[in-house]
Amino acid sequence: MPARSCDVLIVGGGPAGATCAWRLVRAGLDVLVMDKHDFPRDKVCAGWITPAVIESLELDCAEYAQGRVMQPIHGFRTGIVGEAQVETRYPETASFGIRRREFDHYLLQRSRARLSLGEPMKTMARDGGAWLVNGEIRTPLVVGAGGHFCPVSRVLGTRLGHGETVVSAQEIEFPLSARERSECRLDGAFVQFYFCPDLKGYGWCFLKGDYLNIGLGREDNHRLSGHVEQFCQWLQQRGSIPRNLPGKFNGHAYLLYPASHRKLTDDGALVIGDAAGLAYPQSGEGIRPAVESGLMAAEVILEAAGDYRQCRLEPYISRVTGRFGKRNPRQPGASWLPQKFRQKLATRLMANGWFARHVVIDRWFLHTGQRALLAR
Ligand SMILES: Cc1cc2nc3c(=O)[nH]c(=O)nc-3n(C[C@H](O)[C@H](O)[C@H](O)COP(=O)(O)OP(=O)(O)OC[C@H]3O[C@@H](n4cnc5c(N)ncnc54)[C@H](O)[C@@H]3O)c2cc1C
Repeated sequence: MPARSCDVLIVGGGPAGATCAWRLVRAGLDVLVMDKHDFPRDKVCAGWITPAVIESLELDCAEYAQGRVMQPIHGFRTGIVGEAQVETRYPETASFGIRRREFDHYLLQRSRARLSLGEPMKTMARDGGAWLVNGEIRTPLVVGAGGHFCPVSRVLGTRLGHGETVVSAQEIEFPLSARERSECRLDGAFVQFYFCPDLKGYGWCFLKGDYLNIGLGREDNHRLSGHVEQFCQWLQQRGSIPRNLPGKFNGHAYLLYPASHRKLTDDGALVIGDAAGLAYPQSGEGIRPAVESGLMAAEVILEAAGDYRQCRLEPYISRVTGRFGKRNPRQPGASWLPQKFRQKLATRLMANGWFARHVVIDRWFLHTGQRALLAR
């Protein structure tokens, strides 16, 4: 006999898993969240979130900010590395900077789900009409929220890394000393995003409270460390970041929607967030899709009312495509325009204030045309 059981087991306590748990617990379900790490834990991420995330999570910013970093952002500096830059300001708070070790811990605690931390999911086998996880947890429904390398996705048949176009990114986050802060030309109210000259990715530099986060992500991971190094040298020459960076950059991978094609549902199983490959294609923002997919999955689970056959969970797929668009295996960034021409055109467009505000920031990064998804 299994020692433990629950209505829903969520594998992964990141923003996707914590959001799904929060909604399900609120509806009265007995939810267990399992994560291989103890919390608080670090997560490789810049920690930039859009206002829609705050709305979907019904986050009380004043309460959250007590003892945690919550950096209001009022503008963006954008451009192509080595080219002219544009500053775009907003009268209201246009984004926030959080630290993932604080944010994820807060969301997980707030969910009021039962937690099993420091426990990796190792096995997941069918056991009659239910699942037996790690040989001891019996549940009719497993939600895969384990990020890019989610073990639930594997069980559902996804061959992780096979035929997947992965975005690889590296970042470093550290506290700035008072001297470094006075030497560097940094303003917490501005996030800096600079596209690589070949347009295959972008780097960022971002002050959140006392912490500086620097990083770069690309569609190809060929010479990623070299690109990161070049980007840092350029920022250092401009006096934007300290000459000496402490420690090493940490790397991680994830998939962009709509090019990802992971299986989203099965009998008694759903996958959400990075496990489903839902990050926005232009910005790589993955927290908002993680939160929204967690909410959409929760609604479908509640509507299924205990009957978790695949046919009852499939509405989740239509909600995902309704929200983020139809899946499209076309490679991100692919274009019929010759590369040289694209670069020339991009340099001109990125230096244009109207384009920077209305296309790069409003459309690609803030998704201002898409309202926040609210929990019912
Ligand atoms: C360098 C970098 C910078 C980024 N910057 C941003 C940004 O600024 N803003 C933004 O919106 N997005 C950003 N992203 C993307 C964002 O980090 C992800 O999209 C987001 O974390 C997805 O959330 P999730 O809950 O799906 O997965 P995750 O946050 O990855 O959480 C998955 C959880 O599952 C757990 N887990 C994994 N395997 C197992 C297992 N076997 N058993 C149990 N638990 C397991 C992990 O410990 C983890 O806690 C960035 C990504 C990278 C790599």
